[in-house]
Amino acid sequence: MSYEELMDYDEVMESYDPALGLEVHVELNTHSKMFCSCSTQFGAEPNTQTCPTCLGLPGSLPVVNAKAIESAIRIGLALNCSISTWCRFARKNYFYPDMTKNFQTSQYDEPICFDGQVEVEVDGQPFIIPIERAHMEEDAGKSQHMGGTTGRIQGADYSLMDYNRAGVPLIEIVTKPIMATGPQAPAVARAYVGFLRDMIRALGVSDVRMEQGSLRCDANVSLMPKGSTTLGTRTETKNVNSLRSIEKALRFEICRQGAILSSGGQVVQETRHWHEDGAYTSAGRSKEEAEDYRYFPEPDLVPIAPSREWVEELRATIPEPPAVHIAGLNKTWGFSDLEMRDVVNAEAVDLIHATVEAGASPQAARKWWMTELLRRANAESISLEDLPISGEHVAEVQRLIDSGLISDKIARQVIEAVLAGEGSPTQIVEDRGLTLVSDSVTLQKAVDDVIEANPDIAQKIREGKDQATGALIGQVMKQMSGQADAAKVREMIIASLAS
Ligand SMILES: [Zn+2]
Repeated sequence: MSYEELMDYDEVMESYDPALGLEVHVELNTHSKMFCSCSTQFGAEPNTQTCPTCLGLPGSLPVVNAKAIESAIRIGLALNCSISTWCRFARKNYFYPDMTKNFQTSQYDEPICFDGQVEVEVDGQPFIIPIERAHMEEDAGKSQHMGGTTGRIQGADYSLMDYNRAGVPLIEIVTKPIMATGPQAPAVARAYVGFLRDMIRALGVSDVRMEQGSLRCDANVSLMPKGSTTLGTRTETKNVNSLRSIEKALRFEICRQGAILSSGGQVVQETRHWHEDGAYTSAGRSKEEAEDYRYFPEPDLVPIAPSREWVEELRATIPEPPAVHIAGLNKTWGFSDLEMRDVVNAEAVDLIHATVEAGASPQAARKWWMTELLRRANAESISLEDLPISGEHVAEVQRLIDSGLISDKIARQVIEAVLAGEGSPTQIVEDRGLTLVSDSVTLQKAVDDVIEANPDIAQKIREGKDQATGALIGQVMKQMSGQADAAKVREMIIASLAS
């Protein structure tokens, strides 16, 4: 829990305007690292993907990964940035145990992409996000703090270092101050990072998994008295790792800063940590200024001068913006605005797309992902795409239903089994013997038995009370362990009683 005083959000908004700044780090999905040929494969044994260059050993020399530059330029183009005709890497000097060289190879005053802008929408209202720069840099290694209860350095007995991540290519995307969002500021930040994630995924240059750290967001916010144009002192909440948390963390900071300012205090410029469990931020270190890092041009790397022809070639590979892409998809899907908004909010667009591509109707695809599977994902607090089931699986389940082999009810069991890792839907249906009994003789026998056992209900149906049919269908289904087509059973009951 937080021990700091908070002001009511709406009250803050009556007196102050928030200004946002977002720094997003994207880990690129190149096969090798930024300046050496080591693999970037996630999840390998610690320190098995290192070499003298990414360990910073004397005498080693870096070489730039051309694919990483291509990815950086494509990201810049998708953000409507200008692409530098000539730029250099710079050394950002500081000591940290996860960085063996005592400097990070980054870019400083010569970023490869600069001056862009994108538009995002919140509740139908457009907001322009001005982009200051997108530059290239390398990731650091990973510290693991051992012996404590929290995994944090406080209380740990010792720390272990894994340098597999050291030198993995990153793109850092920095906005200019985002003003005039009013009370929508936290939602605008969320929409922007969501836009980046979808756009970068569409570019295919990163797997942008926030929970795995391949997309990380630092969220800055400051408040200024309403009507003022002078930016207030900002705080930077580090490494917020979900879209929902970005919104919550900013809201918290706005309420905290509002309380300080309205009681005549001063906001301290510092980094803050976001605590997901208690939904609050706490003070980190006081924020360094750029001068503190003693940046200077990297002498071991040649400058980068992407030709205009190459840039134009890359521009032709930029996919349409996510919002345009989604609107295009829905032209063929035909969902209502409300349905589509739910689909977008549940992050189910790509999954439904894959399911439809695999042969299911849009309505069937939406039904499975937005009910059964969404419920399951919510229950486990994971995102839909992390469920161990694919669009192909869901389309296969629907195919089994459409061809009359299984019922809706059995389909739910099949989906459970796919999620439990039992194999493909068709295989599960075969292994478990779940196909519907389509043999008319067996079905008719069950219908006859049930009619005989329930003469009163049968009489009611004969007298025209159709709603009584349900009771008999239920009993037949029970007798068939759910493995019968209910519509067919209904037909058989009516036919039997009519004769
Ligand atoms: Zn290496």
